[in-house]
This record gives sequence, C-alpha cells and structure tokens, in this order.
Amino acid sequence: MVWVLHGADPEFCPRCGDALDVRETDEGPRPRCEDCDVTLYHNAGVMARTAVVDADRVLLIERGAAGDVGAWATAGGYVEAGERPSEAAARELEEETGLAVAPDDLTLVNDGFLDFGGGETDVAFNYAVHRSKTAGSVDAASDAADTRWWTREELRTDLPDDKNNLRAIGLDALLDVLDDVS
Ligand SMILES: [Zn+2]
Repeated sequence: MVWVLHGADPEFCPRCGDALDVRETDEGPRPRCEDCDVTLYHNAGVMARTAVVDADRVLLIERGAAGDVGAWATAGGYVEAGERPSEAAARELEEETGLAVAPDDLTLVNDGFLDFGGGETDVAFNYAVHRSKTAGSVDAASDAADTRWWTREELRTDLPDDKNNLRAIGLDALLDVLDDVS
C-alpha cells in the first residue's frame, strides 16, 4: 500500500509513532520503521486534468481552494487509489464543472511535471475532450469557485501570470488542443 506525503520529511512512523530510522535503497536513503517493517517512499503526487473544448473556446475553472485561490486551471485533481487516471479526470471534471464524461472519451494530451521545490513534485495526466462528448450543464462546484470559457486570444491577453495555473498542461499545449480538438 502506498501513501503519498506532502510537505516536510516525516520524522515519526505514521503507524506506531516511533522515530524513523533510515534505510539505504537503490534510489537513496528512505525513512524506515523497523518495528512496523515499513519503508516510506518519496513519490510524486499523481494528478489528472481535463481541457473541455467547444468551437474556439476552452473551459477553465477558477481555483477556490488550496494555495492558488483565484488562479485559472483545467479541471482536475489527484488520482485516488483504485482509479485509472482517466477515471479520476472524469470524476474531477464532473465534481468541479458539472459536466459528465465517459473516461474512454478522454484523449491524452501530455504528461505534465510540476516542481514545487523542497523535493515535492506532481505529475499530471492531461486530457482533452470536445464539449459534445460531455453531458450536463456547466456549474462550478467543489474546488472550483467559477468557470469560464476562454478563447485563444483571451488566454493570451486576459490571463495574467499570477492568475495562470496552466503549468500542468502548459499554455502552448492548451493552444494546440484548441486547434486539434475543436
Ligand atoms: Zn512504526
């Protein structure tokens, strides 16, 4: 079973609370609790995100939670244990925008990489889908404070850097999606 920790290195065993030892592995030193026979692995967080395209516009959500409140991003979130990335992307899309989609209708665009410093990184499966393959009406919910359809021109001119949280997919890749999916 794998649990992913975010933030500072753990000092104590999450199971028994004793101080952790260190074990050398092929990938470097890893915190270990001998009593519990548990080694903690330092893995990336895995995200899944979806760009919904309709004609010349792409649907983004305004973040309403976590450290980037007010920034605009594709709908998405962390992949839960037991989920395929496309299933997570579909779940998050519906939670945040109200649009339902079949996971198999999502097209993989690229694999994003986010480095937060301090050894914390995320990887992101980025998907795209045309609006016609989705069902329901757009209504922001969950971690999304708002939704908005953006044209190519608005993405270039109306999205200041401090409100742009498109680094998971990348602005250039998102503009390519507008060409390919619409
Ligand atoms: Zn322990």
